[in-house]
Amino acid sequence: MTTSFKNKIALNFTLSTALMIAVVFVLVYTIVNLTVFGRLEKDLNFEAREHLQELGIKNGIPFFEDKIEWLEKEHLFLEINPVFVQLSGLDGKVIDKSPNLKTDELRADLSKPDMQFFRTKLLGRSIGQMQIVVKGKSGKVGYLVVAIPIDESEKVMSNLQTVLLISLPAVLLLLFLITRFIAGRSIEPVLSVIDTADKITNENLSARIAIPARKDELEKLVITINALMDRIENAVEREKQFTSDASHELRTPLAVIKGTLEVLIRKPRTAEEYIDKVAYCINEINRINYLVDQLLLLARFESQKKAMDLQKIDLSELTETILIRQQERILDKELSISLQTDERYVVYSDPYMTDIIIENLISNAVKYSKHTGHVIIEIRPQKHALVYKIIDDGIGIAPWEIEKIKEPFYRSNPLGHPEIKGSGLGLSIVKRMCELLLITFSIQSSLDKGTTVSLTFNS
Ligand code: ADP
Repeated sequence: MTTSFKNKIALNFTLSTALMIAVVFVLVYTIVNLTVFGRLEKDLNFEAREHLQELGIKNGIPFFEDKIEWLEKEHLFLEINPVFVQLSGLDGKVIDKSPNLKTDELRADLSKPDMQFFRTKLLGRSIGQMQIVVKGKSGKVGYLVVAIPIDESEKVMSNLQTVLLISLPAVLLLLFLITRFIAGRSIEPVLSVIDTADKITNENLSARIAIPARKDELEKLVITINALMDRIENAVEREKQFTSDASHELRTPLAVIKGTLEVLIRKPRTAEEYIDKVAYCINEINRINYLVDQLLLLARFESQKKAMDLQKIDLSELTETILIRQQERILDKELSISLQTDERYVVYSDPYMTDIIIENLISNAVKYSKHTGHVIIEIRPQKHALVYKIIDDGIGIAPWEIEKIKEPFYRSNPLGHPEIKGSGLGLSIVKRMCELLLITFSIQSSLDKGTTVSLTFNS
């Protein structure tokens, strides 16, 4: 069974309050009890001492000296809470007693210490009693027993107990209902959050939860959920864009191949024409191959952190190997390439990924350089890092496109330079791998002036 949140809050609150109220009630009861009976005890104590003064001893037997005066006093006042006084011998037999005892008599309880207040019964009535040893010259001669009715006080205490015991559950029930109502009202916005969150489906990711008017934790929760939804929506959007771009990029060369071959078989052609068109198709197939390779590479590093194989890499050595691989294109464009570094710097990284990153960046610098352009590769230490820069004086990138070119399939102004072929995937692969290897990757560029790409290897 699931308990609703408001019931849980109300129950917890009521239980903790119940504990506190119970403690308060016990305290109240104890204090009243101590006050009422403490007062009675004090009164009785006073009476006992008074009457002790009035005692005389004759022949070793105690007696009331002013009995006549005392009896008169008894008649003069109608006492509501009369004090019973009794004089008993050492054997417990009654020697004398106050007239208000009539035929009854008090029983001295010798197990109790002298002057100790205790409760007992006198013909069914509750009384508070105490006794004092009466001493003559020769020692103990008897006991003075005094008592006072306490049934009124006991009634007060029992009433108080009943009131407290009945009011505790009543107060708690009331408290539970009130807390439940207040808790219910305060979590109402949560219900609206649940309601809106329910409406967010795969098809409708744009629904957002209305931000509550009050600035509290709930407002923060809603803002966080909304921000999370923004990120999910963006990711899904990027995913859709990626799939549609990928299929478009793959379909285009296929359509070109299909069109070329269809035209080719329409009528007989010369051998040169066949060679020319087939070579064109092979070129397109190579493009598809390259694209598929790059897509696979991206997919491999997109979904999971590939187990990294960290090794010492000599950056100058790696650069020289890559330059050899790019040699043909460098010579074609008659580029001047210079590697500037003071010494051989080593980084601790994954050789396979580092190779792909640097190769992509050098290849871009070569690709987007003008004829007879210059490319400088600079390796310099900087505080606790090593900075690897590729500086070209090529076509450059417009400032608003610098972040965009890191997205898959984004190519800056491809129609402006149709002769430069590319997939738009290189930099997104570089970006992803740099994230995995914790390499800071940044681009500075100025249109028509050139581009500087920096990789910061943190040590
Ligand atoms: P590709 O080169 O295959 O198009 P990239 O992801 O490597 O894909 O690059 C994305 C885009 O960024 C390129 O199309 C190009 O417009 C721009 N770009 C990358 N590097 C440079 C550079 N060194 N100089 C000028 N533009 C560049």
